Amino acid sequence: MTAATTTHEFQAETKKLLDIVINSLYTERDVFIRELISNAADALEKYRHESLTHSEEELFDAHVPLEITIDLDEKKNQLTITDTGIGMTKDDLLANLGTIAHSGSNTFLTQLAEAARQDVSLIGQFGVGFYSAFMAGATVRVRSRSWDGSEGHEWVSDGTGTYTVSECQGLHRGTKVIVELKEGCEDYAKKWKVESVIKQYSSFVPFPIKLEGETL
Ligand code: ADP
Ligand code: MG
Repeated sequence: MTAATTTHEFQAETKKLLDIVINSLYTERDVFIRELISNAADALEKYRHESLTHSEEELFDAHVPLEITIDLDEKKNQLTITDTGIGMTKDDLLANLGTIAHSGSNTFLTQLAEAARQDVSLIGQFGVGFYSAFMAGATVRVRSRSWDGSEGHEWVSDGTGTYTVSECQGLHRGTKVIVELKEGCEDYAKKWKVESVIKQYSSFVPFPIKLEGETL
């Protein structure tokens, strides 16, 4: 940690959601890949919109192709998903990844209260959102740089109450979510597993998805 690292507490509702995600949804883990890909696709779509309404000089990294890249590291037990979308400023990271006000997770909590009384296996159908990364991740790192070209930042959390934010230099436009996998989640660092989850849940994403260098 450097001097510029700041620590922040999750909002109470977010803590509640994280607790459910970490302790009750472990049978639905596959959906975290769908949620992260869906966020990447949303971010790419938002960037595409800005690129149509701004000149090239106003766009940071205007030449970078619009795509989603997934890299696996079995040794580190890690899955990384990178998009070249709109990215997030420091303020965006604090607003979007600390609260659930801006997230589909809000609806999820309401639906969950209903489903818990019925069938827990339905839960995977709901949009759990970004926090689902903690279903499989012991630690989640989000490195992001906005399309406005302002300095990039890294958001880090283990999902248990707080997260940190610090400056991160040399990033391209977009967002990299590094999921440091839990013990027992080793399969998500394996290509056959990730490929099968993507084929099951994310076949209609309108941007190229590159898994370990291969375009799916
Ligand atoms: P939702 O996608 O339903 O809005 P999420 O919990 O999945 O909710 O994400 C919360 C917010 O975090 C998003 O609305 C978006 O503003 C931001 N976000 C998450 N992932 C990314 C990403 N890859 N690029 C840019 N912004 C992101
Ligand atoms: Mg989402």
